Amino acid sequence: MTTPLPTGSTIGILGGGQLGRMLSVAASRLGFKSHIYEPGANPPAGQVADRVTTAAYEDAEALTAFAQSVDVVTYEFENIPTSALDILEALKPLYPNREALRISQDRLTEKTWLTDLGLQTAPFADVTDAQTMAQAVAQIGTPSILKTRRFGYDGKGQVRLKSPDEAEAAWADMNDAPSVLEGFVNFSLEISVIAARSQDGQVSAFDPGENVHEDGILRTTTVPAKLPARFQTDAVLAAGKILNALEYVGVMGVEFFVTPTGLIVNEIAPRVHNSGHWTQNGCAIDQFEQHIRAVAGWPLGDGTRHADVVMENLIGDDMDRVPALAAEGNVALHLYGKAETKPGRKMGHANRITKG
Ligand code: AMP
Repeated sequence: MTTPLPTGSTIGILGGGQLGRMLSVAASRLGFKSHIYEPGANPPAGQVADRVTTAAYEDAEALTAFAQSVDVVTYEFENIPTSALDILEALKPLYPNREALRISQDRLTEKTWLTDLGLQTAPFADVTDAQTMAQAVAQIGTPSILKTRRFGYDGKGQVRLKSPDEAEAAWADMNDAPSVLEGFVNFSLEISVIAARSQDGQVSAFDPGENVHEDGILRTTTVPAKLPARFQTDAVLAAGKILNALEYVGVMGVEFFVTPTGLIVNEIAPRVHNSGHWTQNGCAIDQFEQHIRAVAGWPLGDGTRHADVVMENLIGDDMDRVPALAAEGNVALHLYGKAETKPGRKMGHANRITKG
């Protein structure tokens, strides 16, 4: 049996963006303290955390002091350097575990691992140079998408190919970064499942949400998703299978494409996820609290949805709509306290209760 962390313990969080901020709030609701580690000055999470360390992921001394000051380490993003993880993990428990990070940091490793697990992904091929690019296009065909294996987010590091003659230019765009070519999936819907696994192996999934992206960035998530019951079950089972195979602890986001022949896994994110923000106003226990419970060795909430919700991201100038949104009685606003509004920058989100 796991010994739960007592209230008053400190949760260490790598990354000080909006996800770290909402994790800190959830931690404080359960009586925990939070300590944020973030290279950038004045991070959004710093406004609500007990402590902030401003230091680089290469700063061994700062990492050591951080680990010594916390009871458990978690993170809000997956691209943490291995050297930093080595230092932290030697001192304190790290959740979710290294294997989840290793797999999700690299699209080729991730797709290979998912297909080995018996799940379906888009057809894919490894691309390392002009020659393997030509082979990949011959194998996968077009339309297809060339993606960098690492460090891609919000549609960055991706080029779409409509015909094979675009192969050379697409590869040139990648600046020699190891990549994967993915076959284009003709999906009817994009959905995601946010699921959690506790230290004792309890698994709890939230209802699948229906996601709409614009310019590669999540625009809205709607629950319930317009999804046949069979696919709802398939999605939740696939997420559970992934969590169990990884002996995962914490919350994970699993994104799927829905096609007439079944679900295709797009990607997994070993952390709380933007498409799970609806749970803040649609469930008794939201994804952030669920994650803190898991990493603290507490039992999970059951994830039951008590309302229909449309989550809308407030990006850049969408912030001008805040006064009007605030005047609507059924819209919960979650603003991230970012000093500067920039185009494409996630500034907050609004959860509209469409049926309670
Ligand atoms: P990603 O960064 O891989 O999640 O891709 C961002 C968005 O691009 C996805 O949410 C889809 O809307 C679209 N996309 C990515 N990969 C594919 C694919 N293989 N087929 C069709 N659309 C895709």
